[in-house]
Amino acid sequence: MAQNARYLLDELAENAGFRERFRASPGLCVAHFQLAWDTSRTSEERALLRDTELDAVRALLGEVNEHLRKQRAEHRNEPSGTEADSWQRALWLTGGWPAPAASAGVPESAGEDQPVRPSS
Ligand SMILES: [Zn+2]
Repeated sequence: MAQNARYLLDELAENAGFRERFRASPGLCVAHFQLAWDTSRTSEERALLRDTELDAVRALLGEVNEHLRKQRAEHRNEPSGTEADSWQRALWLTGGWPAPAASAGVPESAGEDQPVRPSS
């Protein structure tokens, strides 16, 4: 597992496109974030992990709050948007993202050629 975390960090250091996709991703789950953090060697790696995770958590928290707002009776008529499944993504972000087949596009799922997942 630590070896895969090292691979993730090496890819982030060497591959600008990969780094860009990671930076825009919905974050690592808590367990894999901790593993990547513990495996990181430089302040640059930790800054990238920290900033990506903070942005992901803040964005998701905003969506969860929007979802909760729309659940209140006076807002029930508003159409639901991308925030509708934010509660589920919040569970995944804390407990672990599902297998790639169940969730294309989550950060820990393998893309066509770029596995981001530190393995579980
Ligand atoms: Zn994970």
